[in-house]
Amino acid sequence: MVGARDANEVFKENAKKFDTPDHLKEKKKQHTRDRAEEDFMKEFEIPVESVPVPSKGLVYPISSSLHSLETVDITCMTAKDENILTSRALIRKGTVLDTLLKSCLVDKTINVPNMLVGDRNALMIAIRITGYGSDYSIAVDCTSCSEQIQETFNLSELPIKRLKIEPIEQFTNQFSFTLPRLNKEVIFKFMTGQDEIELTKTFERARKINDIESVVTTQLVNSILSISGITDKGKISRMVPNMPAIDSLALRNFIEENEPGIEMKSFVTCNNCGWDGEVDIPIGVEFFWPK
Ligand SMILES: [Zn+2]
Repeated sequence: MVGARDANEVFKENAKKFDTPDHLKEKKKQHTRDRAEEDFMKEFEIPVESVPVPSKGLVYPISSSLHSLETVDITCMTAKDENILTSRALIRKGTVLDTLLKSCLVDKTINVPNMLVGDRNALMIAIRITGYGSDYSIAVDCTSCSEQIQETFNLSELPIKRLKIEPIEQFTNQFSFTLPRLNKEVIFKFMTGQDEIELTKTFERARKINDIESVVTTQLVNSILSISGITDKGKISRMVPNMPAIDSLALRNFIEENEPGIEMKSFVTCNNCGWDGEVDIPIGVEFFWPK
């Protein structure tokens, strides 16, 4: 899919601006002492940045603040936002990131949990760049020898995957795919942040009763809205495990290839065994809490 990748220009601009704190320091030195406070406030007037919305807002209904939006404005991360990141109450409730995203969005009417996972990721990465720069250091596992590879990724260079397929109806999160073996039409949706939270809960319950085999099917059942016109969730969840593997794989590949978002992948080389290849960049604790 290399040909389909767009350069991530907006993030790049951000990176240039935010990776040069020395500039700010130099400028500050030039000011005389009596004007220092006034200048301080001026200098720290929070800049607003424009972030691309990978879905181009094409999946949100007219009632949504994201309807038809190709970009969304954020204010850069401030010390106040760092308070959110260290709030024990928010961490316990699991709402830290939603609260942070909401705090940085200029339009407060945007419903963060209803955003597609990919749109939300674009926002999260842009906010991270404004706060701590574009260098992201994290360890990934080598695919070949399982040794940990410590790598610094440049978040501003991750390609944007914009929505390229049309919903079955304008401004809905509903897309069509025909299963190659069964020759039946499936209508599916792309996951929202809220869907992902519910899916994680389902997985946790499954893990407790040692039912790990259902991971693939649970994910599919969550994405599928109908099979051959059947919309009943109970029926869909009985049909999916019996779907031919070739159909299940084709559907999952189609969803993954077309899901709008930020391509969280990069090439790495393992110093231990010499393996090189593409790995998924995980969003770990270091993302918003860099060491
Ligand atoms: Zn290795």
